[in-house]
Parts: sequence; structure tokens; C-alpha cells
Amino acid sequence: MTTGIVYDDIYLAHDIGTQLQHVESHERLISIMNFLKEQHLLEDPSFKIIKPRKATLDQIIYVHRERLIKEIQEICELSAKTNRLQAIDTDTVASPKTYEASLFSVGGNLQAIDEILNENVKNAFALVRPPGHHSNSHKFAGFCIFNNIAVAAEYLFREKGVRKLVIIDWDCHHGNGTQDIFYQGSKSDSGELVMFNSHQYGYFYPGTGNYNEIGIGKGEGKIINYPMPAGSADDVIPLFFDQIIAPICDEFKPEFILISAGFDTHWTDQLTNMGWTYQAPANYLKKIKTIAQKYANDRILITLEGGYELDKQARAVFNCLKVLNDEDDRIIQEEPRSSRVELLDYFNYKLIPALKEKLKPYWECF
Ligand SMILES: [Zn+2]
Repeated sequence: MTTGIVYDDIYLAHDIGTQLQHVESHERLISIMNFLKEQHLLEDPSFKIIKPRKATLDQIIYVHRERLIKEIQEICELSAKTNRLQAIDTDTVASPKTYEASLFSVGGNLQAIDEILNENVKNAFALVRPPGHHSNSHKFAGFCIFNNIAVAAEYLFREKGVRKLVIIDWDCHHGNGTQDIFYQGSKSDSGELVMFNSHQYGYFYPGTGNYNEIGIGKGEGKIINYPMPAGSADDVIPLFFDQIIAPICDEFKPEFILISAGFDTHWTDQLTNMGWTYQAPANYLKKIKTIAQKYANDRILITLEGGYELDKQARAVFNCLKVLNDEDDRIIQEEPRSSRVELLDYFNYKLIPALKEKLKPYWECF
């Protein structure tokens, strides 16, 4: 079975300048697509390009206040009228076509879900912009407009009858928007979700994502944060997966897995201070795939969030596509990197035991 790749040039129309002008530039997607072409991946019949559709406004308001839709429409109109980019906050910017691209960004994820559930593809990677994981129900933030993965989750619950799903966010920045949206559990009565978030932590944007943020009400014990100090490398992720994610998933048994994939954990990334290689996300994905195989009929949808070193991001995306397509041994590798001993001690003897203690009341596996 094939792996879907959601892509359309509409995502370039959210045009906020070259990468020198704004790191979250349309050049990010151009470089990914060029690399996939160079590697002849797009000619491979086991990959299929999925054309996105627009999400409807009814779908956007599954997770966002209605006034946000009006707000971004007006900002884009102003941008068109003035022929200038319009700032939404200090780092989030809109161009005339941002609103339209945002509807396609959400809709690309929804289209991919349909293709997966209809078994036209086994799994998919949505190469979309603008990204979404910093936007919550009432505000846009951190380069993000609509929260693509949050709408996708509610779409699965409300329109597709999925009852249990897992969101894994491995972007270097905490997925605070998604966490806010689901802090009290899913918005629909029928669905239950667990969110795993790993991110750089400590004097770092957006500042949230402490291990003791675990959700409230229906969401209590279902928000799981893995804050990583600067310098954490590839070796801290298997600890998170083996000690926390796998046992919870064995108990929860998700029917679908959504991944917010940022590639700004790379050790060269200009916005961050982590130590991941460009094969690290693919190695993480290999592990996540075992959960999907056991409980979710292989169903995984990855959506693009951040990643600001164009060549490294392109390699990391290529690697994830190879893993989605069960070519686990065909990934491109750079020299492995490992964390300092003190850091590993922090994870092994402090963070993981503290996290287990905190989650114990909610999960029998601890
Ligand atoms: Zn990020």
C-alpha cells in the first residue's frame, strides 16, 4: 500500500518573504519538494500525491472561536489593499493569501485522513503551511494560523467515528496551542485523546510544557509533557518512548495516530539548541509505527510544523517518508549524536520517575 504526500502550490501563497526575511518561509516547502524530486521519491509508485481541499468554516470552529476566522479574513484583506505583509503578533505574519492557504492547510490534513480511512493510502505526510500547533481556540501565535492537527483530531471524532486517538508532537517548541485546546480533553463527547509532547524547555519559546502540566477534568492524565534541556540528543527519545509512550499506548489502544512534526530539533537549527540528527525523527517514527501496527491498523498522519535549516529539514522529511513506506533501512544518516552523561542522568533519574509518579493515578501501567 502507498504512502500519501499532501502537497499543493497553494501553500507557497502564504508568502511572508524569503527565509532571510522570515524563517517560516515558503522556501521551506520548496526545498523539501526539490529534495524529494532529486531523490526520485516522487516517481516512486509507492508514494502518491494527495491534492488538498479547503476545510469548511464549520470544521474550523470545532476548535477555534468564530471571530478568529473573521480576524484572519480581515487581516488578509488589509494586506491585499495595502500591498504589505500584516503582523498578527511579533512573529506571526499574514500575506493576502494566508487565509486561503490556511483553509487548505487544515483541509489537506482532512483529505489525507479520508484517503487513509478509505484505504487509498496506508498513511500520509501533510506537507502544509502555515503550521498550526501554537494557535489555540482564541489566538494565532508562533507562525501558526489554524491549528491543523487539532481540527484533524476533532474531524476524526465528529465525522469519522474514531473514538480514541493519540497526538505526538515532536516539534522543538512546545505544542502549547494544541495542549490548550485539549487541556480539558477532546471537544466532542464521543472521543478521547492522549497527547505526548517533547520539546526544548527552559528560557525557551513558548515557555510552557512542564512535566506537571497533565490536563484537567476529562483531560486529566492525558496531556503528557517531556521537557528537554538544551543539548538533548537522539538518545533521550527512546527513553520517552519505551518508558512512557509505549506503556500508555498499550493501555489506551489508540485507533489513529496524529503527529505534529517539527524538524527544528536538528543540532544546527538557527532557532533552537537541541542535539538531534536528521535521522532522529525517523527513528522515533519507527517506534511510533509499532503502536500504529498493533492498535491503529497502521494509520498515521504526520503534519508539518517547524524546521528552519532547509537542507536538514528536507533530509528529515525524506527519512520519515521512507519509514512510513516501510523502507526503514533506506534512511539517510549523519554521524550519530548523544547527550552528555549529566543530561541522561536527569532523564533517567529525575524526569522519567517524576513523570511516572505524576501519571500513576491515571494509568495502571505505572
Ligand atoms: Zn518549532
